[in-house]
Amino acid sequence: MKIAVISAQGDVEEHVEIVKKALQELGKEGKVFATMNKEDVAKADAIILPGGESTTISKLIHKNSVAEEIKKASFEGKPVMGTCAGAILLAKHGDEEVMKTKTKLLGLMDIWVKRNAFGRQKESFHAMLNIEGIGEYEAIFIRAPAIIKAKSNVKVLAKIDEYIVAAQQDNVLALSFRPELTEDTRIHRYFIKMIS
Ligand code: GLN
Repeated sequence: MKIAVISAQGDVEEHVEIVKKALQELGKEGKVFATMNKEDVAKADAIILPGGESTTISKLIHKNSVAEEIKKASFEGKPVMGTCAGAILLAKHGDEEVMKTKTKLLGLMDIWVKRNAFGRQKESFHAMLNIEGIGEYEAIFIRAPAIIKAKSNVKVLAKIDEYIVAAQQDNVLALSFRPELTEDTRIHRYFIKMIS
């Protein structure tokens, strides 16, 4: 199996490394590569859109048609995971900050996202979550977005108070936090298992 990590900007290498580790732990053969090449994205069996700056990532993926390939892959049922900024881009609906910056979203999930939802005083923090299908998990949040609303076809996997921080709609997975920054491979193993 081939897993593409979109290398527009942000936590690209961290995702590549943790996918390698997760594949090894699962005893699965697989190739993971960082790419901004649309042909490579088209060949992938699964795609990761990392955290970084959603405004920048959006511009770069739309400039060279990588955005179209991500959409196509998701419509074909291939697993797509967006973490932090990547989760913002998976949404159909953005907040006023998304609109003000004219950030183009991919619109793959029926969710409403709020950028920097946890406020300035809480720019970066760890939180213990109870993630459905995974269990107790220590998550790292950095200027993280939140999902403030989701349609009923979206499965809520974890919450902090009223904010949804992990959600899945069929083959598409959105996480507010940064699973690539931990030693814990369970999120990436979960994602790899979504590849049929
Ligand atoms: N605040 C960032 C944004 O809105 C996302 C944060 C992140 O990916 N660490 O793009």
